[in-house]
Amino acid sequence: MLKLENVSKYYYSSSSVTCALRKINLKLNIGEFVAITGESGSGKTTLLNILSGLDSYEDGEMYYYNKKTSFFDSSDWENYRKDEIAFIFQNYNLIDSFTVLENVIVSYIIEGESYKDAKEKAFEILKIVGLEKDYHKKATKLSGGQKQRLSIARALAKNTNIIVADEPTGNLDAENGKAILELLKKVSKDKLVIVVSHNISEIEPYMTRKIRLHDGEIVLDETVEDDKIINNHVVERNKKEVHDIKRIFNFSFLNIKSQPKKTILMLLLVMISVFSSFVFYANFKANLDDNRTKVLESDFFLNFDETRLIVKDANSSIITDDILQKANVKKVYQVEKYDYITDVNYYRLGDYKFALGGGMSEPDPNTGVSNFIDSSAIELVKEDKFMRSSSSLTEKDLAYGRLPKNMLEMVVYSNDSSLIGKKELVLFKNSRYWGDDSYLKYNVEIVGILQENTNQAYFSDEICKMMELSEHILDINIEFYNEKGKFTRFKFNKIAIDPTLAGIQVMGNKSVFNSLNRPDVKIPNNFLKIRENYIDSYFEFDINLKSSQNICDDAIVLSLNAFEIIYSKYNSDKQFAVYIEDYSYTDDVIRELSRNSFTSISCFRSSVAGYDTMKVVIRYVNLLISGFALILINVLIIFIGLSILKVKRNDYIIFKMIGLTNKLIKKINFSELVFYGICSNVIL
Ligand code: ADP
Ligand code: MG
Repeated sequence: MLKLENVSKYYYSSSSVTCALRKINLKLNIGEFVAITGESGSGKTTLLNILSGLDSYEDGEMYYYNKKTSFFDSSDWENYRKDEIAFIFQNYNLIDSFTVLENVIVSYIIEGESYKDAKEKAFEILKIVGLEKDYHKKATKLSGGQKQRLSIARALAKNTNIIVADEPTGNLDAENGKAILELLKKVSKDKLVIVVSHNISEIEPYMTRKIRLHDGEIVLDETVEDDKIINNHVVERNKKEVHDIKRIFNFSFLNIKSQPKKTILMLLLVMISVFSSFVFYANFKANLDDNRTKVLESDFFLNFDETRLIVKDANSSIITDDILQKANVKKVYQVEKYDYITDVNYYRLGDYKFALGGGMSEPDPNTGVSNFIDSSAIELVKEDKFMRSSSSLTEKDLAYGRLPKNMLEMVVYSNDSSLIGKKELVLFKNSRYWGDDSYLKYNVEIVGILQENTNQAYFSDEICKMMELSEHILDINIEFYNEKGKFTRFKFNKIAIDPTLAGIQVMGNKSVFNSLNRPDVKIPNNFLKIRENYIDSYFEFDINLKSSQNICDDAIVLSLNAFEIIYSKYNSDKQFAVYIEDYSYTDDVIRELSRNSFTSISCFRSSVAGYDTMKVVIRYVNLLISGFALILINVLIIFIGLSILKVKRNDYIIFKMIGLTNKLIKKINFSELVFYGICSNVIL
């Protein structure tokens, strides 16, 4: 089945050419047990390597079943080694990290068996070579003789026509060597066995043919016993057609199972790498934006929330639910219908405190409203809260309770659900228009508890509209006309709603109206004149001279109906806001919104002024640290990973020798990497 015709082999080096084999002519057949002998350096290994396709030759031709092999390309040689040759080495070449059993199983898996079948068959083979009791031992724990038995078991598992063995007894004592040759003889009935040995006496009892080399030439070729030779007879060993996927799966399974520690280590490494890359990359990216290192300063905004974008619709001056829905693009996490109020401060209990002598009155039994006993005694503790409207929430945002239905209701976060139904005195302050010591005060009931932890409170539409209007209105005057047509004008600083008022009523503060108790004033013909953007509007309302509740000292107090009439007059300049999931999405969201015909600006970016030197320094330090850490950690992990893989590379050389193709090795490595990637992502 194998025929060499005038085969020569040269080794070239920079200074000389060595002729390792010289015009070798040889025919080998199934059934033979060939001993190749000769002194060291005579070319035995070279000849064996050429026969087994591990090495190439220069001159002559090798025939394999009468096929010329000089035309073989590397994949043909790979297949030849995979399908025809089983190797036994002087130094065993076992996989040290595998057990005895696994060393044989792997051979079957490369053949295409399933893990389960491979395990069964491996046990059978181990019985033949007498290692069945040691199946669970690591290969490194075996004696030399046992190791060579195992490598014979592995060669048998490969089920090939040819077994080649280079000095299989070279590392063994005489007794063990004899046993190994006996075993080889026993298991190789219908195979071609080629054994290289420099110890002719040892191999003599088993060989059927003796070939002696000297200086690269065959000096002796004699057949000792030829009755069993099967001349050019093809022994069908029905190789299975198996899809690579099955091999890859079983092989990776074996690899991971046999090395749980390594698997966990690799997993950990990939996890650390993924996780730290994520963290440092996010940090790096956050520090790239130099807006964060600037001083915030604005004539327009008080609230510099990074995630707030102010939005206007280019096509519509009124804001409908459809428009709000359309602005709810990707990465937007809330749409706020009333943008102006997000610059209005509110103060809940704890955000203000009473100085000595100050405090709250008992709540009014009818309205539930408490008043300051001495409003000058109030002191604001926290100034960092800005209003939001509950219209940007849905029922899904609530853990308990409901969204506000009436004006004096709000939703907050708390881990105490018994807060529902409680009333709190809340102050609202539009400091840009009212100055610092002027508030609207309302007793607001908590009707819902938010799911997500926040110190933000969300208020009813009515409160939001009221505070929004306070942004637009510059002057509020009531003009009273007497019989001669002359009028008296009273100026108010702000508009408030009293939901207990019915119809279209307006009320004023007692101290203001007291001065009106003059006989020349004609009460019914009164006008409320409101000026916005220097345009005056007149409303004819029923003006009540009695004082309303003490919502505020200098406010004009309207019923809800009266308020709606004024509000509907002033809804021209409408803008709303979207809150994005993270500042880093700013550009993406602005782009997406402009695609939907919205104009939007980042409130934060439009408010930044000059650089803050300290922040700039911190930013560069942060950039450096996170960039450096990112590189360091990944380089470190690549190094550790490589050193783990390097250990493996030695194993892969052996796997290749026992029949794994390069293509398959790449696929296995890739699929294991994918496995680590998926696992670590799932765990994280
Ligand atoms: P043996 O196995 O009988 O000891 P080898 O086949 O290993 O002999 O070597 C035959 C000759 O080829 C020797 O002279 C050796 O020095 C030379 N040789 C073997 N391998 C190489 C190589 N890779 N490079 C150069 N010369 C080599
Ligand atoms: Mg040799």
